[in-house]
Amino acid sequence: MKRMILASQNKHKLEEVRNILKDLDIEIVSMDEAGLGDLKIEEDGETFEENSMKKATVVMEKTGQTAIADDSGLEVDYLNGSPGVYSARFSGEDATDDDNNKKLLSLLKDVPVKERTGRFVSVISVAFPDGRRLSVRGECEGIVGFEEKGTGGFGYDPLFIVPKYNKTFAQLGGEIKNKISHRARALDKLRKELKDMLEDQ
Ligand code: IMP
Repeated sequence: MKRMILASQNKHKLEEVRNILKDLDIEIVSMDEAGLGDLKIEEDGETFEENSMKKATVVMEKTGQTAIADDSGLEVDYLNGSPGVYSARFSGEDATDDDNNKKLLSLLKDVPVKERTGRFVSVISVAFPDGRRLSVRGECEGIVGFEEKGTGGFGYDPLFIVPKYNKTFAQLGGEIKNKISHRARALDKLRKELKDMLEDQ
């Protein structure tokens, strides 16, 4: 079985990536398991692509092993694409998901439903020790709700309504989310290329 280290300290992302790629013969190793539990990588890029590739490259260089990274966030049209790459620290460096959700709700107070559109974006990058690089993007369109609903997932999931289901990601739960999410779409694109590249390793 091939091994890839996931360059993220986010346990929810780890669970989702493992779940979505479970049919592939790849072991997704956490930073903790790779002995990088304390590693902090500054996300100083202006795009998801820059941050995602930086995270994968740093972990690959530190370990000499193939690394995979997700940089993701929520783009809200009414806020001109904000919080975007700043989604995790929308309300400050040590922001919790709850702080971020409250800030988003307050910025969208009294904004009508048709102007609450946006999308989750996930850019997944892979850095191989032999220098090969891969980057793919997945998006999922939705609407920011007026209140938090549901208990599943993480981050902005309780506020993100998927129009087809009229439910938030937090209400839909992992099984459906992992089929339609931005992360699932990016990883589906990655799937084929990854199989070929890992076979060449
Ligand atoms: P990153 O670690 O810089 O990629 O930050 C991603 C941030 O975007 C998370 O902390 C969440 O706030 C948000 N985010 C990304 N993907 C999701 C998702 O699937 N559900 C909810 N929030 C997400």
